[in-house]
Amino acid sequence: MVNYRPTKAIIDLAAIEKNLEVFKKQAGKAEVIAVVKADAYGHGVVEVSQRAIASGIRFLAVATPDEALFLRKQGIDTRLLVLGATPEAFIPVAQQEEITLAAISLAWLEMASKAANPKLRPLKIHLKIDSGMRRVGVFPEDTEQAINFIRQNHFSFDGLFTHFATADEESGALFQQQVKEMRAVIASVSDPSVMIHVSNSAAAIMHPDLAYDGVRIGISLYGIAPSAYVENQMAIGLTPAMSLETEIVHVKKVKAGEALSYGATYRAKEDEWIATLPIGYADGMLRGLQGQEVLVRGMRMPVVGRICMDQCMVKLTEEFPIGEKVTLIGKQGNEQIRMEEWAEKLDTIPYEVPCILTKRVPRIYC
Ligand SMILES: *Cc1c(COP(=O)(O)O)cnc(C)c1O
Repeated sequence: MVNYRPTKAIIDLAAIEKNLEVFKKQAGKAEVIAVVKADAYGHGVVEVSQRAIASGIRFLAVATPDEALFLRKQGIDTRLLVLGATPEAFIPVAQQEEITLAAISLAWLEMASKAANPKLRPLKIHLKIDSGMRRVGVFPEDTEQAINFIRQNHFSFDGLFTHFATADEESGALFQQQVKEMRAVIASVSDPSVMIHVSNSAAAIMHPDLAYDGVRIGISLYGIAPSAYVENQMAIGLTPAMSLETEIVHVKKVKAGEALSYGATYRAKEDEWIATLPIGYADGMLRGLQGQEVLVRGMRMPVVGRICMDQCMVKLTEEFPIGEKVTLIGKQGNEQIRMEEWAEKLDTIPYEVPCILTKRVPRIYC
Protein backbone atom coordinates (compact mmCIF):
# COMPACT_ATOMS: atom_id res chain seq x y z
CA MET A 1 0.00 0.00 0.00
CA VAL A 2 1.25 3.48 -0.85
CA ASN A 3 1.08 5.98 1.99
CA TYR A 4 0.87 9.59 0.92
CA ARG A 5 1.01 11.00 4.43
CA PRO A 6 4.61 11.10 5.71
CA THR A 7 3.77 9.88 9.24
CA LYS A 8 5.18 6.38 9.78
CA ALA A 9 6.52 3.96 12.36
CA ILE A 10 9.78 2.42 11.24
CA ILE A 11 10.45 -1.03 12.64
CA ASP A 12 14.04 -2.20 12.69
CA LEU A 13 13.74 -5.99 12.54
CA ALA A 14 17.50 -6.34 12.98
CA ALA A 15 17.12 -4.68 16.40
CA ILE A 16 14.52 -7.28 17.36
CA GLU A 17 16.88 -10.01 16.23
CA LYS A 18 19.68 -8.46 18.27
CA ASN A 19 17.50 -8.37 21.40
CA LEU A 20 16.52 -12.00 20.79
CA GLU A 21 20.18 -12.97 20.60
CA VAL A 22 20.79 -11.29 23.97
CA PHE A 23 18.02 -13.34 25.58
CA LYS A 24 18.97 -16.58 23.80
CA LYS A 25 22.51 -16.23 25.10
CA GLN A 26 21.30 -15.49 28.60
CA ALA A 27 18.73 -18.32 28.60
CA GLY A 28 21.31 -20.97 27.74
CA LYS A 29 19.46 -24.25 27.20
CA ALA A 30 16.09 -22.72 28.05
CA GLU A 31 13.82 -21.85 25.16
CA VAL A 32 13.10 -18.19 24.37
CA ILE A 33 9.35 -17.83 23.86
CA ALA A 34 8.72 -14.66 21.84
CA VAL A 35 5.60 -12.91 23.13
CA VAL A 36 3.90 -11.32 20.11
CA LYS A 37 0.49 -10.46 21.58
CA ALA A 38 -1.27 -7.18 20.73
CA ASP A 39 0.18 -7.14 17.22
CA ALA A 40 3.67 -7.72 18.64
CA TYR A 41 3.26 -4.78 21.01
CA GLY A 42 2.26 -2.66 18.04
CA HIS A 43 5.30 -3.65 15.95
CA GLY A 44 3.40 -5.92 13.52
CA VAL A 45 2.85 -9.54 14.45
CA VAL A 46 3.48 -11.19 11.09
CA GLU A 47 6.75 -9.44 10.33
CA VAL A 48 8.05 -9.81 13.89
CA SER A 49 7.07 -13.49 14.09
CA GLN A 50 8.63 -14.31 10.74
CA ARG A 51 11.87 -12.59 11.70
CA ALA A 52 11.92 -14.30 15.11
CA ILE A 53 11.42 -17.69 13.46
CA ALA A 54 14.12 -16.96 10.89
CA SER A 55 16.51 -16.22 13.75
CA GLY A 56 15.79 -19.55 15.45
CA ILE A 57 12.78 -18.94 17.69
CA ARG A 58 10.57 -22.04 17.84
CA PHE A 59 7.89 -20.92 20.25
CA LEU A 60 5.56 -17.89 20.15
CA ALA A 61 2.97 -16.71 22.65
CA VAL A 62 -0.10 -14.53 22.15
CA ALA A 63 -2.87 -13.34 24.45
CA THR A 64 -6.04 -14.43 22.69
CA PRO A 65 -7.34 -17.32 20.58
CA ASP A 66 -8.02 -14.93 17.69
CA GLU A 67 -4.41 -13.78 17.69
CA ALA A 68 -3.26 -17.41 17.56
CA LEU A 69 -5.60 -18.33 14.72
CA PHE A 70 -4.53 -15.26 12.78
CA LEU A 71 -0.90 -16.41 12.96
CA ARG A 72 -1.85 -19.91 11.77
CA LYS A 73 -3.75 -18.37 8.84
CA GLN A 74 -0.61 -16.42 7.97
CA GLY A 75 1.20 -19.74 7.64
CA ILE A 76 3.11 -19.57 10.93
CA ASP A 77 3.43 -23.16 12.13
CA THR A 78 5.66 -22.90 15.21
CA ARG A 79 4.57 -23.90 18.69
CA LEU A 80 2.05 -21.30 19.75
CA LEU A 81 0.66 -20.66 23.23
CA VAL A 82 -2.42 -18.61 24.12
CA LEU A 83 -1.63 -16.99 27.49
CA GLY A 84 -5.14 -15.87 28.44
CA ALA A 85 -8.52 -17.54 28.83
CA THR A 86 -9.96 -19.42 25.84
CA PRO A 87 -13.70 -20.04 25.40
CA GLU A 88 -15.35 -23.39 24.75
CA ALA A 89 -15.98 -22.83 21.04
CA PHE A 90 -12.27 -22.55 20.37
CA ILE A 91 -11.25 -25.89 21.92
CA PRO A 92 -11.72 -28.06 18.78
CA VAL A 93 -10.13 -25.31 16.67
CA ALA A 94 -7.09 -25.40 18.94
CA GLN A 95 -6.90 -29.20 18.51
CA GLN A 96 -7.15 -28.85 14.76
CA GLU A 97 -4.60 -26.04 14.49
CA GLU A 98 -2.22 -27.39 17.14
CA ILE A 99 -2.56 -24.28 19.25
CA THR A 100 -1.53 -24.75 22.88
CA LEU A 101 -3.92 -23.32 25.45
CA ALA A 102 -3.40 -22.09 29.00
CA ALA A 103 -5.40 -24.18 31.45
CA ILE A 104 -6.43 -21.36 33.76
CA SER A 105 -8.58 -23.11 36.40
CA LEU A 106 -10.14 -26.42 37.40
CA ALA A 107 -13.44 -25.21 35.92
CA TRP A 108 -11.69 -24.44 32.63
CA LEU A 109 -10.19 -27.95 32.52
CA GLU A 110 -13.64 -29.41 33.13
CA MET A 111 -15.10 -27.29 30.32
CA ALA A 112 -12.24 -28.12 27.92
CA SER A 113 -12.49 -31.87 28.59
CA LYS A 114 -16.14 -31.76 27.50
CA ALA A 115 -15.54 -29.45 24.53
CA ALA A 116 -12.55 -31.42 23.17
CA ASN A 117 -13.25 -33.60 20.16
CA PRO A 118 -12.09 -37.15 21.02
CA LYS A 119 -11.52 -37.91 17.33
CA LEU A 120 -8.92 -35.14 17.04
CA ARG A 121 -5.43 -35.18 18.58
CA PRO A 122 -5.32 -34.41 22.33
CA LEU A 123 -5.64 -30.74 23.27
CA LYS A 124 -2.20 -29.31 24.06
CA ILE A 125 -2.18 -27.43 27.33
CA HIS A 126 0.16 -25.55 29.62
CA LEU A 127 -1.14 -25.50 33.18
CA LYS A 128 -1.16 -21.95 34.54
CA ILE A 129 -0.44 -21.64 38.25
CA ASP A 130 -1.66 -18.60 40.16
CA SER A 131 1.30 -18.20 42.49
CA GLY A 132 0.30 -14.69 43.56
CA MET A 133 -0.82 -12.57 40.60
CA ARG A 134 -4.50 -13.42 41.27
CA ARG A 135 -5.43 -12.97 37.61
CA VAL A 136 -5.79 -16.45 36.09
CA GLY A 137 -4.43 -19.83 37.14
CA VAL A 138 -4.91 -22.82 39.39
CA PHE A 139 -3.91 -22.25 43.01
CA PRO A 140 -0.74 -24.16 44.00
CA GLU A 141 -2.71 -26.34 46.42
CA ASP A 142 -4.94 -27.51 43.55
CA THR A 143 -2.03 -28.49 41.27
CA GLU A 144 -2.21 -32.19 42.04
CA GLN A 145 -5.94 -32.33 41.39
CA ALA A 146 -5.47 -30.43 38.12
CA ILE A 147 -2.66 -32.72 36.95
CA ASN A 148 -4.64 -35.85 37.76
CA PHE A 149 -7.58 -34.48 35.81
CA ILE A 150 -5.31 -33.58 32.86
CA ARG A 151 -3.82 -37.09 32.79
CA GLN A 152 -7.26 -38.73 32.82
CA ASN A 153 -8.66 -36.67 29.93
CA HIS A 154 -8.02 -35.95 26.26
CA PHE A 155 -5.16 -33.53 26.90
CA SER A 156 -1.48 -33.40 26.11
CA PHE A 157 0.21 -32.02 29.24
CA ASP A 158 3.02 -30.02 27.65
CA GLY A 159 3.83 -27.26 30.07
CA LEU A 160 3.41 -25.52 33.38
CA PHE A 161 3.85 -21.81 34.01
CA THR A 162 3.17 -18.83 36.22
CA HIS A 163 3.44 -15.06 35.99
CA PHE A 164 5.12 -12.64 38.40
CA ALA A 165 3.34 -9.54 39.64
CA THR A 166 6.40 -7.56 40.76
CA ALA A 167 9.38 -8.87 38.77
CA ASP A 168 10.11 -5.33 37.54
CA GLU A 169 10.65 -3.94 41.05
CA GLU A 170 13.31 -4.45 43.65
CA SER A 171 12.83 -8.06 44.67
CA GLY A 172 10.38 -8.00 47.57
CA ALA A 173 8.20 -10.27 49.66
CA LEU A 174 5.59 -11.04 46.99
CA PHE A 175 8.20 -12.02 44.40
CA GLN A 176 9.98 -14.27 46.91
CA GLN A 177 6.67 -15.82 47.90
CA GLN A 178 5.79 -16.55 44.25
CA VAL A 179 9.20 -18.15 43.65
CA LYS A 180 8.78 -20.29 46.76
CA GLU A 181 5.27 -21.42 45.76
CA MET A 182 6.54 -22.35 42.31
CA ARG A 183 9.55 -24.28 43.60
CA ALA A 184 7.18 -26.55 45.50
CA VAL A 185 4.81 -26.95 42.55
CA ILE A 186 7.65 -27.71 40.13
CA ALA A 187 9.17 -30.26 42.50
CA SER A 188 5.83 -32.08 42.56
CA VAL A 189 5.63 -32.41 38.76
CA SER A 190 8.85 -34.32 37.98
CA ASP A 191 7.95 -35.02 34.35
CA PRO A 192 10.66 -33.90 31.93
CA SER A 193 8.20 -33.63 29.05
CA VAL A 194 6.43 -30.78 30.87
CA MET A 195 8.04 -27.49 29.91
CA ILE A 196 8.42 -25.17 32.91
CA HIS A 197 8.47 -21.40 32.32
CA VAL A 198 7.96 -18.62 34.85
CA SER A 199 9.81 -15.51 33.67
CA ASN A 200 8.68 -12.46 31.71
CA SER A 201 11.26 -9.93 30.43
CA ALA A 202 11.87 -8.41 33.87
CA ALA A 203 12.38 -11.76 35.61
CA ALA A 204 14.56 -13.03 32.76
CA ILE A 205 16.78 -9.95 33.06
CA MET A 206 16.92 -9.78 36.86
CA HIS A 207 16.81 -13.50 37.73
CA PRO A 208 18.45 -15.58 34.97
CA ASP A 209 18.57 -18.49 37.45
CA LEU A 210 14.79 -18.84 37.07
CA ALA A 211 14.93 -19.66 33.35
CA TYR A 212 13.91 -23.34 33.86
CA ASP A 213 12.89 -24.65 30.39
CA GLY A 214 11.80 -21.34 28.91
CA VAL A 215 11.46 -17.58 29.33
CA ARG A 216 8.61 -15.50 27.89
CA ILE A 217 10.07 -12.33 26.43
CA GLY A 218 7.67 -9.56 25.43
CA ILE A 219 8.52 -5.90 25.99
CA SER A 220 12.30 -6.28 25.90
CA LEU A 221 12.18 -8.15 22.61
CA TYR A 222 11.24 -4.74 21.23
CA GLY A 223 14.16 -3.07 23.00
CA ILE A 224 12.20 -1.52 25.83
CA ALA A 225 13.12 -2.01 29.49
CA PRO A 226 10.16 -3.23 31.62
CA SER A 227 10.71 -0.48 34.20
CA ALA A 228 13.17 2.23 35.19
CA TYR A 229 14.30 -0.01 38.07
CA VAL A 230 15.21 -2.87 35.71
CA GLU A 231 16.82 -0.46 33.29
CA ASN A 232 19.12 0.90 36.01
CA GLN A 233 20.05 -2.56 37.25
CA MET A 234 20.35 -4.57 34.07
CA ALA A 235 23.61 -5.94 32.77
CA ILE A 236 22.36 -6.41 29.20
CA GLY A 237 21.90 -3.87 26.41
CA LEU A 238 18.62 -3.51 24.54
CA THR A 239 18.09 -1.92 21.15
CA PRO A 240 14.79 -0.05 20.58
CA ALA A 241 13.11 -1.37 17.44
CA MET A 242 10.54 1.31 16.68
CA SER A 243 10.93 4.91 15.63
CA LEU A 244 8.13 7.29 14.82
CA GLU A 245 8.66 9.88 12.14
CA THR A 246 6.84 12.51 10.19
CA GLU A 247 7.60 15.67 8.20
CA ILE A 248 6.75 19.32 8.55
CA VAL A 249 3.76 20.09 6.30
CA HIS A 250 3.34 23.78 7.08
CA VAL A 251 5.50 26.54 8.59
CA LYS A 252 4.53 30.05 9.57
CA LYS A 253 5.47 32.90 11.85
CA VAL A 254 2.99 33.40 14.67
CA LYS A 255 3.05 36.94 16.04
CA ALA A 256 3.81 37.76 19.67
CA GLY A 257 0.62 37.52 21.73
CA GLU A 258 -1.25 35.27 19.29
CA ALA A 259 -2.65 31.97 20.56
CA LEU A 260 -2.79 28.68 18.69
CA SER A 261 -4.81 25.45 18.46
CA TYR A 262 -8.03 24.45 20.27
CA GLY A 263 -8.69 26.26 23.49
CA ALA A 264 -5.97 28.81 22.70
CA THR A 265 -3.89 27.29 25.50
CA TYR A 266 -0.55 28.43 24.07
CA ARG A 267 0.26 32.04 23.38
CA ALA A 268 3.43 33.12 21.54
CA LYS A 269 5.67 35.26 23.77
CA GLU A 270 7.45 36.74 20.77
CA ASP A 271 7.22 36.24 17.02
CA GLU A 272 7.72 32.47 16.74
CA TRP A 273 8.25 29.97 13.92
CA ILE A 274 5.59 27.31 14.28
CA ALA A 275 5.45 24.07 12.28
CA THR A 276 2.42 21.88 11.77
CA LEU A 277 2.93 18.10 11.86
CA PRO A 278 0.48 15.60 10.33
CA ILE A 279 0.08 13.45 13.44
CA GLY A 280 -2.45 13.65 16.25
CA TYR A 281 -4.29 11.71 18.90
CA ALA A 282 -6.05 9.49 16.35
CA ASP A 283 -2.57 8.19 15.53
CA GLY A 284 -1.74 7.62 19.18
CA MET A 285 -0.08 10.94 19.82
CA LEU A 286 -2.30 11.53 22.82
CA ARG A 287 -3.26 15.00 24.05
CA GLY A 288 -1.24 14.35 27.18
CA LEU A 289 1.88 14.72 25.04
CA GLN A 290 1.40 18.49 24.82
CA GLY A 291 4.80 19.90 25.82
CA GLN A 292 6.67 16.74 24.77
CA GLU A 293 9.68 17.44 22.59
CA VAL A 294 10.34 16.17 19.06
CA LEU A 295 13.60 16.13 17.10
CA VAL A 296 14.29 18.39 14.14
CA ARG A 297 17.85 18.39 12.74
CA GLY A 298 19.06 16.73 15.91
CA MET A 299 17.56 19.40 18.18
CA ARG A 300 14.69 19.15 20.65
CA MET A 301 11.64 21.34 20.01
CA PRO A 302 8.41 21.33 22.03
CA VAL A 303 4.87 20.47 20.96
CA VAL A 304 2.86 23.63 21.70
CA GLY A 305 -0.89 24.05 22.08
CA ARG A 306 -3.46 21.30 22.15
CA ILE A 307 -2.75 18.20 20.10
CA CYS A 308 -5.59 17.78 17.58
CA MET A 309 -7.02 14.53 16.21
CA ASP A 310 -4.80 14.49 13.12
CA GLN A 311 -2.29 17.30 13.55
CA CYS A 312 -0.19 19.12 16.10
CA MET A 313 2.08 22.16 16.27
CA VAL A 314 5.75 22.47 17.19
CA LYS A 315 7.70 25.57 18.12
CA LEU A 316 10.82 25.80 15.96
CA THR A 317 14.08 27.53 16.83
CA GLU A 318 14.18 28.99 13.31
CA GLU A 319 12.41 28.57 9.99
CA PHE A 320 12.67 25.05 8.55
CA PRO A 321 11.41 23.99 5.13
CA ILE A 322 8.30 22.01 4.42
CA GLY A 323 9.28 18.35 4.15
CA GLU A 324 11.86 18.60 6.96
CA LYS A 325 12.04 15.28 8.77
CA VAL A 326 10.73 15.19 12.34
CA THR A 327 11.47 12.31 14.71
CA LEU A 328 8.92 11.84 17.49
CA ILE A 329 10.43 8.63 18.83
CA GLY A 330 13.94 7.60 17.86
CA LYS A 331 17.35 9.13 17.20
CA GLN A 332 18.56 12.17 15.33
CA GLY A 333 22.23 13.06 15.64
CA ASN A 334 23.20 12.87 19.30
CA GLU A 335 19.65 13.22 20.55
CA GLN A 336 17.24 10.40 21.25
CA ILE A 337 13.61 10.28 22.36
CA ARG A 338 12.62 6.90 23.73
CA MET A 339 9.24 5.38 24.49
CA GLU A 340 10.21 5.60 28.16
CA GLU A 341 10.19 9.41 27.82
CA TRP A 342 6.69 9.39 26.32
CA ALA A 343 5.56 7.04 29.09
CA GLU A 344 6.82 9.42 31.74
CA LYS A 345 5.09 12.36 30.07
CA LEU A 346 1.87 10.35 29.88
CA ASP A 347 2.27 9.16 33.47
CA THR A 348 2.15 5.53 32.39
CA ILE A 349 4.45 2.55 31.72
CA PRO A 350 6.47 2.14 28.51
CA TYR A 351 4.30 -0.89 27.57
CA GLU A 352 1.40 1.40 26.73
CA VAL A 353 3.28 3.55 24.26
CA PRO A 354 3.66 1.16 21.27
CA CYS A 355 0.18 -0.22 21.98
CA ILE A 356 -1.52 3.17 21.59
CA LEU A 357 -0.09 3.85 18.13
CA THR A 358 -3.10 3.19 15.95
CA LYS A 359 -3.48 1.31 12.67
CA ARG A 360 -3.51 4.60 10.78
CA VAL A 361 0.25 4.83 11.30
CA PRO A 362 1.82 2.57 8.69
CA ARG A 363 4.54 0.24 9.92
CA ILE A 364 7.54 0.30 7.59
CA TYR A 365 10.16 -2.45 7.98
CA CYS A 366 13.87 -2.10 7.58
C1 LIG B 1 2.47 -10.35 28.32
C2 LIG B 1 2.95 -11.52 29.07
C3 LIG B 1 4.31 -11.84 29.08
C4 LIG B 1 5.38 -10.93 28.51
O1 LIG B 1 5.68 -9.97 29.49
P1 LIG B 1 6.79 -8.84 29.25
O2 LIG B 1 6.84 -8.13 30.55
O3 LIG B 1 6.28 -8.00 28.15
O4 LIG B 1 8.04 -9.54 28.89
C5 LIG B 1 4.70 -13.02 29.70
N1 LIG B 1 3.78 -13.82 30.28
C6 LIG B 1 2.47 -13.54 30.30
C7 LIG B 1 1.52 -14.46 30.97
C8 LIG B 1 2.00 -12.37 29.71
O5 LIG B 1 0.71 -12.08 29.75
